[in-house]
Amino acid sequence: MRQIALYGKGGIGKSTTSANLSAAFSEMNLDVMQIGCDPKHDSTRMLMHGRWIPTVLEQMYERKDLTADDVIFTGFGGVRCVEAGGPEPGIGCAGRGIIATFQLLEKMKALYGDVVVYDVLGDVVCGGFAMPMRDGYAQEVYLVTSGELMSLYAANNICKAIARLSQRSTARCRLGGVICNSKNMDNERDLVAEFAHRIGSNLVQFIPRDKAVQAAEVNQMTVIEHAPRSPQAAVYRNCAKTILENEDLRIPKALELDELEHLAREYL
Ligand code: ADP
Ligand code: SF4
Ligand code: MG
Repeated sequence: MRQIALYGKGGIGKSTTSANLSAAFSEMNLDVMQIGCDPKHDSTRMLMHGRWIPTVLEQMYERKDLTADDVIFTGFGGVRCVEAGGPEPGIGCAGRGIIATFQLLEKMKALYGDVVVYDVLGDVVCGGFAMPMRDGYAQEVYLVTSGELMSLYAANNICKAIARLSQRSTARCRLGGVICNSKNMDNERDLVAEFAHRIGSNLVQFIPRDKAVQAAEVNQMTVIEHAPRSPQAAVYRNCAKTILENEDLRIPKALELDELEHLAREYL
């Protein structure tokens, strides 16, 4: 079972990318599960045709006798969709909620398949959001970033977390590479490729900014489902293939803040 986690800044395109990757994996006849680990709980919506599925945490608050059918919903291509959800505002830790979700799925023997895709918020890499990496779930991390400094900054922080956690024997997480989800900036591909190189990794995919994403979204589908023959669908399929074939897993070396800022300036 491949356990792939997409980490990145909020709004950078993790859920869009995750859902399209899951759809692409399912087209390859793989058994796929996608677990949304963002309190925003919209990771799987396009796979579920716009449906907001109940989150594991809200269900856990309500009842004790949950079954797999209460928390796992089948979406496009047979992808099994789960949303961890968020804690009650003001109390509770989002990260603990994520781990509680994984533990529940394990207890139900529901954490299986060829590929599990974790879609994780990476603005803060506090102990909470690092839990999927720390506890051996997120074994292969892909950083989703654009060329914008703030999203590179978030990606760099995730590198720090991976490097620190890799020193623990329980954490098997490694960096699989960097995915550039474009914001249509000048020199963006070169900048993100250079960033990936400097942290000791690779740019695994450049994803263009494309209206096909919005068109699919208003129709409550992934691009793979809505526009299967579009160039953008081909990009997601290529990314899925590259990830499946990727064996180059690294312990990254995060950049110092001034080096990161200098790098961003160089490519303006
Ligand atoms: P995240 O999960 O990181 O918070 P989302 O996947 O929800 O981010 O994406 C945020 C918005 O950006 C979405 O509304 C989506 O339509 C848009 N988006 C993401 N990737 C692309 C892309 N490659 N081209 C055009 N729009 C995109
Ligand atoms: Fe929130 Fe992170 Fe603190 Fe948990 S560890 S309460 S997720 S900031
Ligand atoms: Mg999201």
